[in-house]
Amino acid sequence: MGSQSSQHSASQRTGRTVGEQGRRPARCIAIVGPYLAGKTTLLEAILERTGGIKRAGRVADKSSVGDASAEARAHGMSVELNIADATFLGDTFTFIDCPGSVEFQAETFTGLAACDAAVIVCEPDPRRLSALQVLFKHLDDAKIPHLLFLNKIDTASTPVRDILPALQPASTKPLVLRQIPIWETSTSAGGLPTTKATGFVDLALDRAFVYRPHATAEVIAMPPGILDREKQARFHMLEQLADYDDALMEQLLADTEPPQSPQFMGQVFDDLTREFRDGLICPVLLGSAENGNGILRLLKTLRHDAPFVATTARRMKLETTKSAAYVFKTLHTGHGGKLSVARVLTGTFTDGALVCSTGSEERIGGIASLRGADVSKHGAAVAGDTVAFSRLDRIKTGDVITLERGGIVQPKRVGGFAPVYSSAIVMPDRRDEVKLSAALTKLVEEDPSLTLEHAADTQQVVLAGHGEMHLRVAFERLQRKYGMTVDRQPRRVPYKETIRSATTAKGRHKKQTGGHGQFGDVTLMIRPMPRGSGLLFDEKVVGGAVPRQFISSVEIGVRDYLNRGPLGFPVIDVAVTLTDGSAHSVDSSDMAFRQAARLAMSNGMAECQPVLLEPVMAVQIIVPNDATARVTGMVPQRRGQITGFDARPGWQGWDIIDARIPQSELGDLIIELRSMTAGVGTYTASFDHYAELTGRLADAVLAPKAEAAE
Ligand code: GDP
Repeated sequence: MGSQSSQHSASQRTGRTVGEQGRRPARCIAIVGPYLAGKTTLLEAILERTGGIKRAGRVADKSSVGDASAEARAHGMSVELNIADATFLGDTFTFIDCPGSVEFQAETFTGLAACDAAVIVCEPDPRRLSALQVLFKHLDDAKIPHLLFLNKIDTASTPVRDILPALQPASTKPLVLRQIPIWETSTSAGGLPTTKATGFVDLALDRAFVYRPHATAEVIAMPPGILDREKQARFHMLEQLADYDDALMEQLLADTEPPQSPQFMGQVFDDLTREFRDGLICPVLLGSAENGNGILRLLKTLRHDAPFVATTARRMKLETTKSAAYVFKTLHTGHGGKLSVARVLTGTFTDGALVCSTGSEERIGGIASLRGADVSKHGAAVAGDTVAFSRLDRIKTGDVITLERGGIVQPKRVGGFAPVYSSAIVMPDRRDEVKLSAALTKLVEEDPSLTLEHAADTQQVVLAGHGEMHLRVAFERLQRKYGMTVDRQPRRVPYKETIRSATTAKGRHKKQTGGHGQFGDVTLMIRPMPRGSGLLFDEKVVGGAVPRQFISSVEIGVRDYLNRGPLGFPVIDVAVTLTDGSAHSVDSSDMAFRQAARLAMSNGMAECQPVLLEPVMAVQIIVPNDATARVTGMVPQRRGQITGFDARPGWQGWDIIDARIPQSELGDLIIELRSMTAGVGTYTASFDHYAELTGRLADAVLAPKAEAAE
């Protein structure tokens, strides 16, 4: 059959390696797609079809191999990568079911870097366009070959020929439909006619199949009613392939009917393989993961078309080394200790081998393979294998390890994930803080898209991530895995204060207690400075009224006071000049002048019209352009100002809106943006400037401070 003959020639052309025992290297395939598209169900169906499990588990009854963690089960969604091996017709595949939600995208993209190809699972629903676009863009940029599996064909009502043009704008590569559904209309119990996909025609094989629940589809004679549609669809597919194959193009132009010869079929299969591997096209397959339909075709396509690990290693620019494995996930298991989940890209890694990365050398303390939550012993790991290495304490997610001394050139890390949502952590019992700190380190090691920050200005420990659910899962994990129950608090805004007018103030510190007294006396000129000036201190003392040696003590006293101004916040944008003062030959001291300076500041600042300052951030909001108008309406509601607007470079149909928005208004910005954009909108923010805050909003900030001071 065509697929067999072309397989041979494809193998010769791509020069893939065959292992010593005749086994081809294992391939690693990512399953990606929007939330609820059916990824976890598809992995179950694949495991069922390849004999890995008896009967597919169901996401709904929490019996699936994927989504095995307590957090995933609790929320009914993938919150981390799920990995499972399967053998199909003698070939080994590692499937990685990736979380669909943007909140877990960093985990997905880090895992994807190790994959030879990706299956994008999508419902036949044009509303998924933006979510798909984000994925397509990433896969294109990362040069990972990908195909689209249109899932839930059992419940589809819109014709596939209408869905594909609606989804096409998500991809810069042509979506090439490889199958068309066979529809059958029957009358339901209620007497209403219902149309259902009962099978498909494979356009490359030119054959019709009928679906059977949880079994391989059966070949049937081409239904007469479909002939015209099939001819058209097949010709369209050939035309799309011919765009990258001149010989095929000439043939199509010359012949009225595409030939049926095995040779022609072989050419078509070769084109499908080459154009998929080279990232020129995105093939589209149909199926129903829930019913186990279309799974065999998908597996056959992957077996035939997916590139091997050597290609992936080249893509990761690792040619210089003889041995390399890419660590894309880190796990802390209760009994097994730390596991570094890695794809071996070149060479063979044996248990006990010394592995190096940048600046570290450690011995592998065990090799295991993973299936969902199950860990089982694995022998030496060869190129292509995805395994978990034990006890590589210093290795982090994203590292490449090698057997060669002297380390390795690390590939560029998958980055660009600025946190958009944060929460301060409070430990109810201070005595547990050391334990908490160790647990948080492990938590962030397992999920490097979390960031932990000790915010000096607000004295809070802040955990930041990619959304509400991301943080919720992190806190649940902290409790379940590390036994740490913490309180969450909103992140405090680092308010500051300044003054609006100038004054001259005196401070005199005099104490006569017994023998040695204390004496310091200063006059300070205090005045406001333009925004962004910070704090300035200088002196214009004439005639040694304040002796030289005490001037630095005056400055210390001034700066000390400015840590907490009359409103209770750090003071900025103020200049203080020491203009005069007096000293006592015996009683004056550093302490006394510090104290005098504090007094002068405290006397003077209250007269200078103190005013609250709030941080304002430079924010870049990134959304599909159908949400732009709503974003521009939302910015002023958050007391922001729009400062710029542009099309997002390289992203068709997306905009970037630049704005200045007070930090206090950003807490839940991501939630509103995502609800406006079916989950895909995002933003980045960086500090821009401090601005005065007055009126009721300032009162609300100051009231708790005033209460605390009482
Ligand atoms: P994921 O978020 O992409 O992993 O999606 P799941 O695999 O959890 O599936 C989401 C929901 O869609 C579950 O309730 C599945 O039972 C259902 N589902 C998955 N595949 C199909 C399918 O082919 N047909 C139908 N009708 N439902 C499906």
